[in-house]
Amino acid sequence: MTTTTPPLTTSRFFRAAVQSITHLTPSFRRFTFAGGDLADYGDPGLDQRIKVVFPTELTTLDAMPVGEDWYAQWRELPELTRPPFRTYTTRAVRNAVGEVDIDMVAHDVRGPASAWIDRAGVGDEVLIYAPTTAHTGISYGIDFVPPASTGSYLLAGDETAAPALAVILEQLPATATGVVVLEVPHERDIAYLPSHPGFRYRGAARGGAARHTHLVDAVERAAAELVPGGRGAEVEEIDIDEGILWEVPRTAKGGAALKSAPLYAWLAGEAGAIKTLRRHLVSEHGVDRRAVAFMGYWREGRAEN
Ligand SMILES: Cc1cc2nc3c(=O)[nH]c(=O)nc-3n(C[C@H](O)[C@H](O)[C@H](O)COP(=O)(O)OP(=O)(O)OC[C@H]3O[C@@H](n4cnc5c(N)ncnc54)[C@H](O)[C@@H]3O)c2cc1C
Repeated sequence: MTTTTPPLTTSRFFRAAVQSITHLTPSFRRFTFAGGDLADYGDPGLDQRIKVVFPTELTTLDAMPVGEDWYAQWRELPELTRPPFRTYTTRAVRNAVGEVDIDMVAHDVRGPASAWIDRAGVGDEVLIYAPTTAHTGISYGIDFVPPASTGSYLLAGDETAAPALAVILEQLPATATGVVVLEVPHERDIAYLPSHPGFRYRGAARGGAARHTHLVDAVERAAAELVPGGRGAEVEEIDIDEGILWEVPRTAKGGAALKSAPLYAWLAGEAGAIKTLRRHLVSEHGVDRRAVAFMGYWREGRAEN
């Protein structure tokens, strides 16, 4: 008799119910999810991305295909009855008590995630596609992969990147140094980020200014401080209306690691702003692209899927 070993599944869908909702600041809500199913929810840390499936008026979570080829099956479903999913960041995991925190921004556009965030209450369920505790080695959902020896860090983003920035700041050693730039809707949202002794904080509220004015200006100023006299290099344009802007060093996907760099930059937020930052950092300040992660977390005027 031959026995076959089932493939080791290192990511799967977890069914979880809202246990509590904490209004941290005007824009950030902490959803604490609970359930016995979360005992083996993996926690690779840093900017680990996950998918959250939301129920809507037209479809339930039971309509979501959850097997190995879930994505292909999901695409086959009629658009109207497909359960929508969006990308989020695991903020904290407490396996022993079966709890997971996800910090979500309430924005005023009626996407399925923001609509759910607005109406959700204790007991409401979602599905979360995330690594399991069986996950070892490289997590393909992590893009914060600095060179082994990094001089300083430039971390920047808008409110959607703030949960990832928070975990990164909590997990960097106390000896790390750098600048963190954050642009958020409200003054009181700036306090969302945990403090780190080696970082200078440049947080600002958008106020009446055009979206991303602070993000772009402050990143440019920080680059001039951190890489003074850098010499620019050619950078090809990316069409952010055609595809997603996701340019991360090969290291993040298991490629050969850059051993050292004077600066490692991690930038995430609205794709148009990240595209502008990519141009400035590479073509004006000469920042080595092998040491920068540029990520369009969302695109103005476009739903995620
Ligand atoms: C790797 C990754 C990690 C992320 N982590 C988090 C996280 O931890 N917390 C979090 O809150 N978000 C996070 N996001 C962003 C989140 O996935 C998007 O904001 C998502 O589009 C929200 O879905 P929606 O259904 O509300 O809007 P969609 O249906 O996707 O879009 C509807 C409309 O809303 C606009 N829109 C989308 N997001 C925003 C926004 N933030 N402000 C204003 N307008 C917006 C779109 O341009 C579109 O016009 C992350 C994204 C990525 C790629």
